[in-house]
Amino acid sequence: MSTLIETQEHHALRAAVAALGQRYGREYLARIAREGGHPDELWADAAKLGYLGVNLPEEYGGGGGGIAELSIVLEELGAAGCPLLMMVVSPAICGTVIARFGTDAQKQTWLPGLADGSRIMAFGITEPDAGSNSHRITTTARRDGDDWILTGRKVFISGVDIADATLIVGRTEDARTGSLKPCLFIVPRDAPGFGRTVIDMELAAAEKQFELTLDDVRLPSSALVGDEDAGLLQLFAGLNPERIMTAAFAIGMGRYALGRAVEYAKTRQVWKTPIGAHQAVAHPLAQAHIELELARLMTQKAAALYDAGDDMGAGEAANMAKYAAAEACVRAVDQAVHTLGGNGLTREYGLGSLITASRVARIAPVSREMILNFISHQTLHLPKSY
Ligand SMILES: Cc1cc2nc3c(=O)[nH]c(=O)nc-3n(C[C@H](O)[C@H](O)[C@H](O)COP(=O)(O)OP(=O)(O)OC[C@H]3O[C@@H](n4cnc5c(N)ncnc54)[C@H](O)[C@@H]3O)c2cc1C
Repeated sequence: MSTLIETQEHHALRAAVAALGQRYGREYLARIAREGGHPDELWADAAKLGYLGVNLPEEYGGGGGGIAELSIVLEELGAAGCPLLMMVVSPAICGTVIARFGTDAQKQTWLPGLADGSRIMAFGITEPDAGSNSHRITTTARRDGDDWILTGRKVFISGVDIADATLIVGRTEDARTGSLKPCLFIVPRDAPGFGRTVIDMELAAAEKQFELTLDDVRLPSSALVGDEDAGLLQLFAGLNPERIMTAAFAIGMGRYALGRAVEYAKTRQVWKTPIGAHQAVAHPLAQAHIELELARLMTQKAAALYDAGDDMGAGEAANMAKYAAAEACVRAVDQAVHTLGGNGLTREYGLGSLITASRVARIAPVSREMILNFISHQTLHLPKSY
């Protein structure tokens, strides 16, 4: 790859992560998911090699890189069939928010553990009655002396069972205006009043999703991340890395599926030539490859803007990258399954379960339609319907 697009260091990082991913592969993750376990060995190995905290500051044990490097790690693990979903949440969202806005004590408490993988943090913004309209979240924090009392509900929050804490997006009442403004709180897994119920998802993944209840959860003042008045800014600082990482997740999965299909199309023969010689089989695979490459290019642009400190520019690019990657992933998986004929749906070939998995990036963390809304309003200045 040209060094114009990616440096030699990035290229070397890709190759090294790919080698780690290949040591584990799809079989490993499929077994873990079947057994209801967690990919602890892969997580620990990736951490030991410095991959999980590659974006976090060096003074807290991180690699001192950016989202460009972290997204390479996730994409390459995904392309090897073993993506680590919690990378989107723990180092990318929570690590970024704490590194940029946390107090010194929060940085010291959390960043070294997030960087070396020994601690994991989940992220909870989605609520049952708010959904895509995050302005409508009602999880509320009120003061009680020096403490905060948190009340509310969250849904579809990933990995809460394996996370030491969850970064919860709530709201506090503005003393001056009385209106609610967003704030972030670190809620320890076993805090009294913090309940979780696993959601039965149609996803063959190791990471589980939870519905959360916060029933008068009492937190010390140190649980509030950063500044009460900078809530929205802090939130957005975490959301761009989340979209870039979701794009990397989707590209990795699309590449994995496409690779399996190409391999199959080269060898499977039912007429005189392998099925890959039929253009009806080959062209959609070529198209999927092009779309994944294009999505990666936009992901690299978004990461470069974000790492250069251009939060506004990165916002638009990160949304477009997430959109393009999710769509490319859904189409690549669909075509891959189809290329394998009946085998596409057998457990042995393991591609069928990616049909649901590939939809995740189209829905989360922000749906395809909400990105189209964003581009319609913010970029094209079209009027709003809602
Ligand atoms: C596997 C998985 C993991 C997740 N992990 C997390 C997590 O760790 N933390 C977290 O906070 N959340 C998480 N989520 C939640 C995710 O971010 C939400 O599902 C997503 O934001 C969509 O919200 P919703 O499901 O309530 O859909 P809704 O908001 O109810 O939307 C339903 C449909 O309506 C469409 N729609 C809604 N409004 C509009 C509009 N104005 N114009 C056009 N179309 C519209 C949407 O595009 C969508 O197709 C996860 C979700 C999944 C599936």
